[in-house]
Amino acid sequence: MARPSPLEIYALLDKSNCKECGYDTCMAFATDILERKVIVKDCPHLMKRPKQAKNRDKLIKLITPPQKPVTIGAGERAVTVGGEEILYRHQLTFYNQTGIFIEIADDDGDLEETIKYLTDLKIERIGDVLTLDGIALRNVSGDKEQFKLAASKIASLSNLPIMLCTFNVEILVHAAEAIKDKKPLLYAATKDSWEQIGKFAVQNNLPVAIYSNDLDELMSLSATLQKLGVQELILDAGTFFGPGNLSETYDKIIQLRTSAIDKEDVNAGWPVMGVPSAYWNQVKIGKDKELWEHQFQEIIMGAIMESIDTNLIVLHTGQKKDEIWAILALMTLRQSVFSDPRIYPAVDAGIYKIGEPDEMSPIFVTSNYRMTKIPVEQDLQGANMNCWLLVVDTEGIGIESAVAGGQFNAGGIAEAVKEFKAFEKVSHRVLVLPGMAARLSGALEDEADAFVVVGPRDSSGIPKFMDTQWKPKEFMKEYESWEK
Ligand code: SF4
Repeated sequence: MARPSPLEIYALLDKSNCKECGYDTCMAFATDILERKVIVKDCPHLMKRPKQAKNRDKLIKLITPPQKPVTIGAGERAVTVGGEEILYRHQLTFYNQTGIFIEIADDDGDLEETIKYLTDLKIERIGDVLTLDGIALRNVSGDKEQFKLAASKIASLSNLPIMLCTFNVEILVHAAEAIKDKKPLLYAATKDSWEQIGKFAVQNNLPVAIYSNDLDELMSLSATLQKLGVQELILDAGTFFGPGNLSETYDKIIQLRTSAIDKEDVNAGWPVMGVPSAYWNQVKIGKDKELWEHQFQEIIMGAIMESIDTNLIVLHTGQKKDEIWAILALMTLRQSVFSDPRIYPAVDAGIYKIGEPDEMSPIFVTSNYRMTKIPVEQDLQGANMNCWLLVVDTEGIGIESAVAGGQFNAGGIAEAVKEFKAFEKVSHRVLVLPGMAARLSGALEDEADAFVVVGPRDSSGIPKFMDTQWKPKEFMKEYESWEK
């Protein structure tokens, strides 16, 4: 599907530039609607004036992506998955990252503790706060009251979206009825249960996951449920482990995404999910392997799925504190895959205060590559340092490459020293250069009229550097001796 242009969107707006949406012009609103920063409802003219109804419907049709978005949950942590308009990240950007749901069994003896742990889990990485997206409650007990009780417990203790997982319709609907205001995802409708689940979903406006490992059957179920009036669907073509099965799982996800995005097949035009936690039902857990070796299989499947923009995954490993490595690996990968390739990873150049520096505190120099500045800043903060961090504009390029490419050079650093008045903040003229830029030290001393010390190659070595090498008074004595 060709992406609409801002002009095509503008043509359907009121064009009065009334500013009621907060934008100065309708054209600015049109540009941001394309970037999903605003929605059609944000223009009161389109929403309130009956004359505009036709244009509003046209606009909604024009901007609806070929793979529709689906929202699970209610409130501030509701998660939207899918809604993509490209197959590969480099073609534009992915808009909604893979939703990570962790499964819990309804007979879990530590249910409350697990719910609390998953809800509160936060990982700060390179300036972003990474969290989980939902809890997948599995009916392991086979008991409908226990399933309902566990669902209600999650709903009362957590604001995370909930996915209710059982192929038993009666048990599913019984629990869903109790927490329907939380907008749970119903997993899953099959060829045997689509009608009952579909009707319940329509009545309560709930999203439904459809499961079939036969793609034709999956498409037919999608068509039938849409006809029934279900508004939000998620497709699961199965996750299979063992020889040959990984490629089959991969192929089906790619086929579904291709049919949705390239072929605009309305039955495939929904988010696709994968269930790496299926590993534990499919593979015999014997004594031939350690537990972590099994867990690796599951997490590798999760990583493959994230990297091909599977819109939602369900994991088993990760529900316990000592399995944090699994979550860290998948969240780190997800952060990379779903960063916007159109946005240069740069931060503002400037001088940043860390802790409470005094007149003899060091000035560390670094580049304005986001993945350099933020980890350096975090290392300094983590070591309780009191210092200054001078961030030089290297066009968002990391130090090693910027030294080689000339973006991190003595002249540029000297200019930054001047522009950000670095030496007015301290009573010395010492700069600490990163070890990777050691070869600039001589030229920098001339350009910035400073004493330059070469620091560690990695910022994690700064505390040791401070203990053993930071001697500002001696440096200044030497600097003053040059002056004479
Ligand atoms: S509220 Fe609507 S009509 Fe008014 S400026 Fe915004 S987009 Fe244009």
